[in-house]
Amino acid sequence: MNTDVATATIWVMKFGGTSVATPDLMRNAVARIQERRNEGHRIVVVVSAMGDTTDRLLELARQLSAKPSRRELDVLLSAGEQQSMALLSIALEEAGIAAISFTGRQGGIRTDDRYSQARIVSIDPSRIHSELERNRVVVVAGFQGENEQQDVTTLGRGGSDTSAVALAAALDAKGCEILTDVDGVYTADPRVVPRARRLERLSSDEMLEMATFGARVLHGRSVELARRYNVPLVVASSTRSGPGTRIEPPKEEPEMEQVVVRAITDDPAVRKVSLLHVPDTPGVAAKVFQVLGEAQVPVRLIVQAQGSKKHNDITLILPSDAPLDEALLQKMVDIVGGESWLLDENVALLSVVGEGIAREPGIAAKIFSVLAEEKVNIDVISTSNLVISCVVPESCLVRAAAALHAALVETE
Ligand code: ASP
Ligand code: MG
Repeated sequence: MNTDVATATIWVMKFGGTSVATPDLMRNAVARIQERRNEGHRIVVVVSAMGDTTDRLLELARQLSAKPSRRELDVLLSAGEQQSMALLSIALEEAGIAAISFTGRQGGIRTDDRYSQARIVSIDPSRIHSELERNRVVVVAGFQGENEQQDVTTLGRGGSDTSAVALAAALDAKGCEILTDVDGVYTADPRVVPRARRLERLSSDEMLEMATFGARVLHGRSVELARRYNVPLVVASSTRSGPGTRIEPPKEEPEMEQVVVRAITDDPAVRKVSLLHVPDTPGVAAKVFQVLGEAQVPVRLIVQAQGSKKHNDITLILPSDAPLDEALLQKMVDIVGGESWLLDENVALLSVVGEGIAREPGIAAKIFSVLAEEKVNIDVISTSNLVISCVVPESCLVRAAAALHAALVETE
């Protein structure tokens, strides 16, 4: 058993909503926690709300108001995690494991005051440390924290991954394990590309790009934190044993010249906004971003194309759920002195991720020829050192993803 508590390392285990959805699954989580504990670690558990609780709570609010206050929504949604933290503690105690549950606030998680998309500003782990020293498992509610006004805040959908990694960083944990309903990170979404396979490992840079460009397995901000604070991350199944996928800091000396296509990601949940006939003068992009920043709309891609000598068209790819309405579109057009705007919901983002792929021209050539063979019309293309992204019609997404996977991943 866990004898030498004082010198034991801390290990953070995060259970996603599907992994604590029923009492049986809670007991399964208890067994997993027990295993790790028997290895001699002190355990901090981070939990999500059970099953689809968060969606159900949101739906209740929507039945009462089309635009509920974000402060009240945070009070409401945080109740989901509060339920699971208490139930998991009860289950741990029932199994003879001393446990205590903490809300985000009790766990010392301080955030800014952007209700429903708060950022963690600091963590004071002193209460967690003292409970660990008493040999208890500490169960912390994910997805929530407290702002300066002592109001509860939430971190944005999927945010409990971010809570887990932030706690691992603050506690100087040996690692952070994300236990979920899939057994790791795949070379593509298996529901879209059935031949996708699990990756043994990938770099945090690659994972970050995958999360940004549509991989739904981890909250992007959690990967960013893991990279910044060097937290070793593992994504694994909560019910099946297996090694999962390790997400590691990028290698200091990458294998010489070797470029590997790691994965294909798809993101149908985007839309395209075009600002047409915008005067070609300095400061236009700055103004667009200022408007989007004030409205808290994140931008995936921005592309400028020269329409005529003195005018440009500006195209933005934005998440479908970002707060964007006609008034905001018109505001953007007005502020840059453009002519009109266009909105296209039927687009999707298809991306190829791998370290160094953009410096290997053969890969881009391959991508475009595969898409040409599939008769997929590419709308916008963007490249960085780690990603080549294409905007394609949503109706072609599945076919195009499968073709790229076959040509670039299955051949490795
Ligand atoms: N329960 C929250 C959600 O459904 C947070 C999470 O699961 O990570 O978004
Ligand atoms: Mg989640």
